[in-house]
Amino acid sequence: MKRIQKKFTIVGNWKMNPDTVGEARKFFSAISRRAAKNSKVAVVIAPPMSFISILSGKKIHISGQDVSAELRGAYTGSVSARQVRSAGAEYAIIGHSERRAAGDNNKIIAQKTAQALDAGLRVILCVGEIERDNHARYLREIREQITTVLSNLSDKKKIQWITIAYEPVWAVGKNYDTALKPADIHEMTIYIKKIVSEIFGKKIGLKTPVIYGGSLNSENTQMILKEAFVEGLLVGRQSLDPEAFGNIIEYANDLS
Ligand code: PGA
Repeated sequence: MKRIQKKFTIVGNWKMNPDTVGEARKFFSAISRRAAKNSKVAVVIAPPMSFISILSGKKIHISGQDVSAELRGAYTGSVSARQVRSAGAEYAIIGHSERRAAGDNNKIIAQKTAQALDAGLRVILCVGEIERDNHARYLREIREQITTVLSNLSDKKKIQWITIAYEPVWAVGKNYDTALKPADIHEMTIYIKKIVSEIFGKKIGLKTPVIYGGSLNSENTQMILKEAFVEGLLVGRQSLDPEAFGNIIEYANDLS
């Protein structure tokens, strides 16, 4: 695996959309055109598993939206990290709040991360609090989400293939005004890098990329990219609108 040297990584999480192969191809080629024109940005698309092998292009990296915590075997309906890799993905999103809501706890997420890394996938590890309380318990929640996964790494060098996506659950899939303000995102990126530093040392902590996700659109991303000191974005709904997503890629390119 090669390191991605670009300033920003823009990830589009298509979730369980679109309905057909035809639509997926159409969105993908429209986004590819925008990515080709804005080549200073690393663009990653996470389509549904069944579309991974039919979408490929030099300008866009492909990601799975999840992988199984198991290597192989009698797990009907599951898709292994090796299968995701073999289908053409370079990344896997692990620990998305929608997977956590469906039952993935920190231990399962640690296992999935290990499977993905062993299969040669880069991991986009999603963390984020369900709600913010006044006693800063949410900070402990995030610390636990990160430390459970990182302390389970068999080989500490694998940290270099992990990007941490901070997605406050209360800001995912909501009104676009809900996206966190740049200063608050910046504060969380510092906190996340501090947690990684405590485990792996300051140099690695500072180098570990932190991206933000949650109710991003082409308007609020401009300010976030400029002022939040993030290394990228994880975009849900707006990644299914090639025009809006293309604009986000373009802002990131202009700031690179
Ligand atoms: P959203 O989703 O941009 O639609 O809020 C973000 C995500 O789920 O990663």
